[in-house]
Amino acid sequence: MSHDFPVRRARMEYVCMNCGRRHPVDALLYTCPDCGGVLLLEDLDFDEMKEKGAQYWRDLFDARRATRTSALRGVFRFYELMAPVLEEEDIVYLGEGDTPIIEASAELEKKVGRRFAYKNDGMNPSASFKDRGMAGAYSYLKSLVRRNGWKEVLTICASTGDTSAAAAMYGAYVGAPIRTVVLLPHGKVTPAQLSQPLGSGAQVLEVPGVFDDCMKVVEYLAEHYRVALLNSKNSWRVLGQESYAYEAAQWYGWDMAGKALFMPIGNAGNITSMISACLKMHRLGIIEELPHIVGVQSEHADPVWRYYSTPKERREYHPVTVQPSVAQAAMIGNPVSFPRVRNLVDRFEAAGGRFDVVQVTEQAIMDSMILANRHGHIACTQGGESFAGMLKADELGLLGREEFCILDSTAHALKFAGFQNMYFEDSFPAEYGVKARPELVNHPKLLLTAEERAALPEGEFTRAAALAVAEAAGLDARA
Ligand SMILES: *Cc1c(COP(=O)(O)O)cnc(C)c1O
Ligand SMILES: [Zn+2]
Repeated sequence: MSHDFPVRRARMEYVCMNCGRRHPVDALLYTCPDCGGVLLLEDLDFDEMKEKGAQYWRDLFDARRATRTSALRGVFRFYELMAPVLEEEDIVYLGEGDTPIIEASAELEKKVGRRFAYKNDGMNPSASFKDRGMAGAYSYLKSLVRRNGWKEVLTICASTGDTSAAAAMYGAYVGAPIRTVVLLPHGKVTPAQLSQPLGSGAQVLEVPGVFDDCMKVVEYLAEHYRVALLNSKNSWRVLGQESYAYEAAQWYGWDMAGKALFMPIGNAGNITSMISACLKMHRLGIIEELPHIVGVQSEHADPVWRYYSTPKERREYHPVTVQPSVAQAAMIGNPVSFPRVRNLVDRFEAAGGRFDVVQVTEQAIMDSMILANRHGHIACTQGGESFAGMLKADELGLLGREEFCILDSTAHALKFAGFQNMYFEDSFPAEYGVKARPELVNHPKLLLTAEERAALPEGEFTRAAALAVAEAAGLDARA
């Protein structure tokens, strides 16, 4: 065991978001055994951390940035805030977390008229933020396997693409007794996303329909069979994803005043994690002010926006039927974590935090993603959604003049290259409602056909091609 592995251990419990009952964490629960509600994990001894004072924790997490203890290099840099029940040998680290925050390019900032930055969660090992949660879920699962001596564990998840990529990668790394099955909506994940669980050797099963259909199937399986569910119903995943907010606060010197965190909402696990993490830091005084948190949804999958855009006294939650969305990883009509969001937002607002949800068009998502990437960023379509959300919030007057925005690009742009392609070809099927803006389109240009090359005299290709490049790129000859 490493000398710097934390000594703090705590008692943890699942708390039901529906009936409020509590359950021990010695079993893997997805829903409340009493009422079926979704759960969150709670550290019963959390307030003991106050005794040491906020500065102690800030200093500890800052010092830990240099650790050579693998278990503490990733999301568990913030071990004491997350899962102080895990042992070092249980923790799986594959390079997740510690993703860069990149200030918007000067040109882009000028165009937009506001200061902001991207946090590139596509820089995680399977190229999305889901790795943060999987490190949490797999570490807990490993601890269960160790303590119970299980000989076989079958994990399963429904996915819009990235959960299955992450689940399969961590499962493959941990190996026996873990076996991974992923369930995908046929044709509704990108080719890059599909290649990931296949490459990791998971069993990839598909059904016709959308994510919400797959979610119901795995929920049925979790109820009737012995499987470990790795969707964000699994509250250990939500816990791992809290690390994003801890890292963001740490990067800005634990000062969240005047800052807004923007992120897409799909199944609402990620936004649950953000709110929960901010509340914890605030409760300990690690941050003195809560940030502004803004969730973003496409008009084609917007149940959370619909709820929060209704005046408080008339709010009612209704799932929606999704329409095709370029923010495909967030194309979810009945977010599993909605009860968690509702519960945490109340606490967040009571603690003085500001929470908004904005709705954006498919067109705005695509235009924003391409604009960001033309300025050196690596936004996926959901990262475009965060950007579009900032523009929308600005337009609606929800942002202060000097408010600094941190946009979550939840995955790597490369996973969603197909949507960029459709934009550049202006070939979006009508149901997306996206038209290419000519000034954002880019195409490769073939300068010489193979026949033209074959027809050139011997030894003339280099010069002919160079002339064609010079002409196409408008190069000036050397004097
Ligand atoms: C899963 C996912 C989302 C949606 O996150 P939720 O936690 O389901 O709200 C957004 N973007 C990407 C790239 C994702 O993989
Ligand atoms: Zn309950």
